[in-house]
Amino acid sequence: MSLIFDIKIFAVHDGPGIRVSIFFKGCPLRCAWCHNPESRSALPQKMYSKKKCIGCLSCIEACPENALQMTPDGIVTDCLKCILCGACVKACPSKAMEMCGRPLDEEAVLKLLEGERLFFEQSGGGVTFSGGEPLSHPEALLSLLKKCGDAGFHRTVDTSLFASAEIVKSIAAETDLFLIDIKHIDSSLHKKFTGVPNELILSNIRLVAQMGVPYWIRIPLIGNANATEKNISATAQFIGTLKTAPQKIELLPYHKIGDHKIEKLGGKIAANDFYTPDEKTIENYNKILLSAQLSL
Ligand code: SF4
Ligand code: SF4
Repeated sequence: MSLIFDIKIFAVHDGPGIRVSIFFKGCPLRCAWCHNPESRSALPQKMYSKKKCIGCLSCIEACPENALQMTPDGIVTDCLKCILCGACVKACPSKAMEMCGRPLDEEAVLKLLEGERLFFEQSGGGVTFSGGEPLSHPEALLSLLKKCGDAGFHRTVDTSLFASAEIVKSIAAETDLFLIDIKHIDSSLHKKFTGVPNELILSNIRLVAQMGVPYWIRIPLIGNANATEKNISATAQFIGTLKTAPQKIELLPYHKIGDHKIEKLGGKIAANDFYTPDEKTIENYNKILLSAQLSL
């Protein structure tokens, strides 16, 4: 069963116009700078915020498995005992305990989208399927895309394209716009920073461009990872070889927003020296990429 971990209403950064973004849970990549670490696992997860915890111990009383303990670091869950029943989440009065991941309810999503139709029509918006990796849920995604198409909603898929060509083709047939990330043009560095090489991704980008499906290219810009003139120039060169031009190329400068979520998931923040490149550097990279787009 496909899980989602969030639905964002009135989203304005996930494609054109005002949109509803649906976030699938589960991703085959492990980007070192991931903004949504709760999206990685395809399974439900419990999250805990020490900041919100008022120390009432209601969660401990509610837990049927005796899996919780109050410690100087707040409530700690024994993952070997926890059966993810959610009783502690229900018992928590301050929302310090949350469950991340719920089954995708297609009917509920379509009803929600119907309620936003006016905003979509007035703004040129629609629905965006994001993640995690939506292409890791091809059946659920395809079914929703078809129904959204029948209802006349503009459909965007925000993806790394790390999936088989067959999946990409079937999803592309029901997609109005792809938002595609290129995280590094060098395959070995792509693997170092995301856990997977990039040949499949680049080949699928060529496929989408060949099929003539509109697409945007988005490049997360991470200092000490991919924010080098060499990488941006090589990415621009690659874009210049595509059959059709992207409608847009966006640079997404690094923000350290995933760390607190790693803590909420009970994980340890890995040390890194990533940084946000300065405005002049970003402007220079934008010029390099614009020339690639114009050359097509
Ligand atoms: S989810 Fe259920 S089993 Fe796990 S800690 Fe909470 S109450 Fe206990
Ligand atoms: S029920 Fe919530 S607020 Fe109370 S101790 Fe547990 S996590 Fe903290």
